Amino acid sequence: EKEVATIKELLRAFPDFPQKGIVFQDIFPIFQDPAAVKLLITHFERYCEEHLSKVDVVVGLDARGFLLGPMLACQLGAAFVPVRKQGKLPGPCISAQYTKEYGTDHFDMQLGAIQPNQNVIILDDLIATGGSASAAAELVKQSGGNILSFLFIIELITLDGAKQLPAPVYSMLQF
Ligand code: IMP
Repeated sequence: EKEVATIKELLRAFPDFPQKGIVFQDIFPIFQDPAAVKLLITHFERYCEEHLSKVDVVVGLDARGFLLGPMLACQLGAAFVPVRKQGKLPGPCISAQYTKEYGTDHFDMQLGAIQPNQNVIILDDLIATGGSASAAAELVKQSGGNILSFLFIIELITLDGAKQLPAPVYSMLQF
């Protein structure tokens, strides 16, 4: 549809970034166009309203999930909770390890940021292997949250990352 085409046109692909063999999909041009940002957030908002029960918490993944998450959370009347790379969040945290398209890392979430039985969506710019989204899901489960769905702008479908995730995946664009 038209919204998807508008967002697709704004993406840029960078071959061999950050490593040789990886074609990096860059979403930052979207943010140079406020109308496109609005369209993107409205698109995700509509998906949530039409397909999910009431969202209590939007979890955004470090770092580009932080750009989209608070805006979507605001629109949905939900809380925003960041999942950050290890060592960046103050206070008691829970932690989960993950392997990504390039390297291994740990994700942290602040203890008590999600209450048991809250309805949660997990949001990021892109899903590749699904490793980082899966680690974020582990943190939500440790907190007792109920994962309604995973949302991404881009899904690299050849990597089959959605398969290992414990809730439905919505991606706006597939490559
Ligand atoms: P995964 O854990 O393998 O699914 O990788 C997804 C994570 O890596 C997300 O946090 C993405 O932001 C990042 N990532 C991997 N490839 C790309 C890309 O081509 N463009 C933007 N981000 C990417």
